[in-house]
Amino acid sequence: MSEKLLTDTAANVAEAFEKIKAAAVLVGRDPSEIRLMAVTKTVSPDKINEAVAAGCDLLGENRVQELLEKYEQYDKSAEIHFIGRLQTNKVKYIVDKVSMIESVDSLKLAEEIEKRCAKIGKIMDVLLEVNIAEEESKGGFSAKEILEVSEKLKDFQHLRLRGLMTIGRFGAEIEETRHYFEKMRHLLVDIKTKNIDNIYINILSMGMSADYELAVSEGATIVRIGRGLFGARK
Ligand SMILES: *Cc1c(COP(=O)(O)O)cnc(C)c1O
Repeated sequence: MSEKLLTDTAANVAEAFEKIKAAAVLVGRDPSEIRLMAVTKTVSPDKINEAVAAGCDLLGENRVQELLEKYEQYDKSAEIHFIGRLQTNKVKYIVDKVSMIESVDSLKLAEEIEKRCAKIGKIMDVLLEVNIAEEESKGGFSAKEILEVSEKLKDFQHLRLRGLMTIGRFGAEIEETRHYFEKMRHLLVDIKTKNIDNIYINILSMGMSADYELAVSEGATIVRIGRGLFGARK
């Protein structure tokens, strides 16, 4: 029997898939509903491509500059989502490179995405970022604003609302994190119910290295993992 030595990254990807599957099965979910995203910040393209070769078909980018620097070297079989704070004047650099912007945190940003995608004839999938724990330090809409914002997005021809994204509070206890993930799941149901075009609204991006199994048990369809795949960031 020949045994191929797995690189660390490949082994970590395999382990993450296993944990996602186990967490899903435990709550009666179909594991194929959940996508593993490799969060690439500070990671070299070589390592990122190892994750892609190991079966991770989704990359998450935080910084425009870093994406532009590394983009050419990426294995193009993976899809790219933008997940970081996005300034309106940088939108034009990424609309042709990403298939989803998960971090829409203002109407002004939505308007700019609409404008830039109209120019290149593309319909961009977007998620609204929710500051579910109402943290001072974080961007995103409050839960109260989400319904109204989702209504407004209906007028945008080049933008398609697919769901919601959140970043758990750093250092939170498990019960607090569970509570907010659950709130996110209910919020997704709310906007799905209120939108006629609701067949597209089915994505809940939540859970990172520290809490992704919990996120899966609370309904996440994308988990975003950085350190858990690539090790500690410098
Ligand atoms: C860095 C980052 C992650 C991944 O965090 P880890 O703790 O390394 O798994 C996920 N989502 C966003 C928006 C991030 O900025």
